[in-house]
Order: sequence, then structure tokens, then C-alpha cells
Amino acid sequence: MSHHHVVIVGSGPAGLTAAIYAARANLQPLVIEGEPSSTSDQPGGQLMLTTDVENYPGFPEGIMGPELMIKFRDQAMRFGAEFLTEKATSVDFSERPFKISVREKQFTAEAVIVSTGAQSLMLGLEAESRLLGYGLSTCATCDGFFFRDQEIAVAGGGDSAVEEATFLTKFASKVTLIHRRDTLRASKIMQERAFKNPKIDFMWNTVVEDLVGDSKLEGAVVRNVQTDEVSTLPVTGLFVAIGHRPNTDLFKGLLDMDDNGYLITKPGSTLTNVPGVFACGDVQDHTYRQAVTAAGSGCMAAIDCERWLEAGD
Ligand code: NAP
Repeated sequence: MSHHHVVIVGSGPAGLTAAIYAARANLQPLVIEGEPSSTSDQPGGQLMLTTDVENYPGFPEGIMGPELMIKFRDQAMRFGAEFLTEKATSVDFSERPFKISVREKQFTAEAVIVSTGAQSLMLGLEAESRLLGYGLSTCATCDGFFFRDQEIAVAGGGDSAVEEATFLTKFASKVTLIHRRDTLRASKIMQERAFKNPKIDFMWNTVVEDLVGDSKLEGAVVRNVQTDEVSTLPVTGLFVAIGHRPNTDLFKGLLDMDDNGYLITKPGSTLTNVPGVFACGDVQDHTYRQAVTAAGSGCMAAIDCERWLEAGD
């Protein structure tokens, strides 16, 4: 059993920024960074699954997602953050010090920062892992720019899919929205906007069954679920927008969550319902989901944590 001032669970932009700030405040944080083999708990978070990042300030030429996360991690290590490359298996926030278990290893902490992120739901196709970052994307804000004057598609029928399809028409010459039913789940106002957009085509009652392309997306194999007709849509980009899932299973029954499982923080702060436990990044943000906003909230969490420890409540 080892004791720490602060344990940070999760190591995407939020957790690593919290680690940089906490380490520079002499709190010697332990970062339980996740397991490399996992898609939901991989060290570095979702940016490890992306290629070019062109919107992170300070990198005018752009930077690869994994390289950016290595820089974050190196910066935290420089100031004394410790890393454990495993995933937390259980937590106990019922009394202080808090307890965090990593299989048989136990850690105690005065404060905990939760930054376990979220994951985009995927279609479950074998080709997805091969082409993610190479034409296949889960973030229009991040990657839309790469598809100027190209024909692309969006899979999904909720607010995310319709919003992304509309946004992507700023870049793409044509966007096909592929939805498995014949009515959208998205709000009426978003639907109307999309229906009026001449660059958006709708492919109803259709599912994506496979992706074409070895190192770059060349098309999506689609099937009409009513007629069973299979065809290939020649697109260079496919945005999967079928929802997200926050990585909060570990905290069920311990921390307050909304209906979709996102942690609830006190507005304008990173405070959860348990004093001494803070949450930052995508695990508590289903609106912005950007590396830079996650990093910003990681900074907030470290400052909130430092002040809370100093106050000695
Ligand atoms: P969502 O509302 O859960 O919609 C997911 C969509 O993906 C649904 O249309 C669903 O089809 C489809 N889908 C799910 N699994 C699929 C699969 N395996 N294959 C094919 N299609 C699949 O998710 P969301 O659009 O990400 O929105 C999540 C929440 O955020 C919602 O509350 C939404 O209102 C909110 N949001 C709001 C805004 C905004 O207000 N600006 C923007 C984005 C999101 P079915 O319809 O057949 O179930």
C-alpha cells in the first residue's frame, strides 16, 4: 500500500494536464494511466487513436495525436509525476484517505482526480481499427478540414450525426447521412436545417457493413435493411456519430452521474459530490470534447484539488 497526496485516474489531455499542474504544485501525483492493450483505457486517451491534430494551439504545423500525448506525459514526468501503466480496478471513496486498487495493488490518496474520458461508440466493423485516422473519424470538428471538396458520409441519426453532417458541408462537396431507420432521432430544428442543405443526401434504412481501402478509406459498403441490397458508396471520409460512452463504470454508485453516465461537476468547477474527488475532461463533458478543453479542465481540477488540500477540509 502506498500513500499519495493526489492520485489521477486516466491519462488523456485532462489527466496529464492535471498531472503537470499538480506536480508543479509539489503534490507528486501518481497517474494511473491505463493499459495499452485497451481501446477505452489506453494511456493517452482518444488522441492515441487519431493521426494529425491541427487545432491544438502551439503547433502551427500540426502534430500527431500520440506524439502530442507523449509530450504532455514527458512534461508531467519532468516535474515529478509518477506513472503506473495499468488500469484502476476499484475505488473506495467512502472515507479518507480514499482507496484505489489496481488489481492486487492498493493505493491511498488525500484527493483523487478522475479523468477517465469517454469513448466514441463504433460500428463494430473489423476494418474500423485499420482505418481510424485514415478516412474514418469520430470527430467532425477535429477532422472536417481534411476533407475539402471530397465526398464523405456520416453514420447515425441523432443530434451528433445531423450536426456533424451540417458542419461538414462547409468543407465537403457532398455529405451522405447514412441512418439505419427512416426517421431521424435528432431534434426537429437540426433536422430541418439538414433537410434544407443541398449538400446533404440521406440514405435511409441503411447500415454500413464494411469499409473499403487498405491504408486509406476508399468507400463504405452499405446495405439497405429493407431490400437487403448491398452497394458501395465511394467516399473518402466516414464520420461515425452514433453516440459516446463515458468511462465511468468504476464510479457507479459512488459519484453523481447524469442519465448518460457522465460525471456531474459543480458548474464552473471540477468538484464532484464527494469532497476531495474532482473530475475533468470528457468524463464530465459531453459538449465540447476537445483536447484543448479537456486540458483546460485538467488544469482546473489540479487547482481545485490543490486549494482543497490546502484548506484541509
Ligand atoms: P444518440 O442521440 O444516442 O443517437 C445515436 C444515433 O446513432 C441514433 O440515431 C441511433 O439510431 C444511431 N445508432 C446507434 N447505434 C448504432 C449502430 N450500431 N449502427 C447504426 N446506427 C446506430 O447520440 P448523439 O447523437 O451522439 O447524441 C447524444 C446526446 O447528446 C443526445 O441527448 C443529443 O440530443 C445530445 N446532443 C445535442 C447536440 C446539440 O444540441 N447541439 C449535439 C449533439 C448531441 P436510432 O435512432 O435507430 O436509435
